[in-house]
Amino acid sequence: MMDAKGRAWIELDIENLKHNAQQFQLLLPKDCTLMPAVKANAYGHGAVLVSKALQKLGIRDFCVACAEEGIELRKAGIQGEILVLGYTNPSQFGELEEYGLTQTIVDGAYAHKMQQSGKKLKAHIGIDTGMHRLGERWDNIPEVLKIFRMTNLEVTGIYSHLCVSDGMSQEEQMYTLEQIRRFETVIEELHRNGISGFCCHLQGSYGILNYSQLCFDYARAGIALYGILSGKEDKVNALVDLRPVLTLKARVQTVRMLYQGEAAGYGLSYHAAKDQKIGALSIGYADGVPRSLSNCGYVLCNGKKAPIIGRICMDQMLADFTEAGEVQAGDEVVLIGKSGTHEIRAEDMAQWAGTISNEILSRLGSRLERIAQ
Ligand SMILES: *Cc1c(COP(=O)(O)O)cnc(C)c1O
Repeated sequence: MMDAKGRAWIELDIENLKHNAQQFQLLLPKDCTLMPAVKANAYGHGAVLVSKALQKLGIRDFCVACAEEGIELRKAGIQGEILVLGYTNPSQFGELEEYGLTQTIVDGAYAHKMQQSGKKLKAHIGIDTGMHRLGERWDNIPEVLKIFRMTNLEVTGIYSHLCVSDGMSQEEQMYTLEQIRRFETVIEELHRNGISGFCCHLQGSYGILNYSQLCFDYARAGIALYGILSGKEDKVNALVDLRPVLTLKARVQTVRMLYQGEAAGYGLSYHAAKDQKIGALSIGYADGVPRSLSNCGYVLCNGKKAPIIGRICMDQMLADFTEAGEVQAGDEVVLIGKSGTHEIRAEDMAQWAGTISNEILSRLGSRLERIAQ
């Protein structure tokens, strides 16, 4: 029989997830509703598990990256609004309609394609206030008005996205304030033209944490809802207590000696300067451990640090257990999370790998069982 904890797995602390959601609810104005970003399998945590846990707190609406992710949630029984943040190919417009997904209008031309499909489609208009990724330009009000009047589209909202809301420099703060001003201008212009009853949203995690005074209808919390920040050095204005939700573990497969002068792993990239006790772990880059952690960082075993040695393999990796006390085949190792008094946070692993925690988490693989506890 399959053992969920047999090889490598993820443990989820659902109480911490709920705690983080409640921290956001306390921080945001009371008329602002959380619309969690559960894209990329809820940043690796498991989209269905996370959405269902959040539903118990009364959170009904979610953001996903693509139609498939929305369909997965619908099939799992999520009934609230599901906003697809990215592009959906016109060949899939039928599925948007069938599953009642709300599509982002990525620009004016795309809105015309949606209109011409003849399908009845729910949509939020993306507004480009300065990120220049998606959305109709904030100063092209005639086009936004035209989209609102398209007969096949049920436009229920508009939103934009902040691109430097994590920045603390004066320049970055000025840019964010300008994005906010542009978004508010669009809302005013729509009202002036007799359009009302639509919802508005602008903030992701850093927008909430650094501009919590803003009051829009929704806030699209992602990374921080999972209890972590993107970068280890990041600072935020809000006083919130966020607690990591995810622990990543694997098993020790073998323990053996590597004698002075020997080298280990692919490319023989690790050389033993003295006799060492090393072990192979049952997790690798196909599970989402970045290959750039080769000979870099450490894992935790029995509350002790065990440096990563040699190249990370597809399904396995090596660690130096010389200083880790008694270690045997079958023991658990922690790659992200706590062991004894030590903790490896996703931000730490991200820093070692030269990336942000969002990338580390969202790439955690499908072979890892997600276990809620
Ligand atoms: C991913 C995403 C979010 C969530 O961002 P976090 O920084 O993880 O909170 C919000 N809005 C949009 C448009 C996104 O793409």
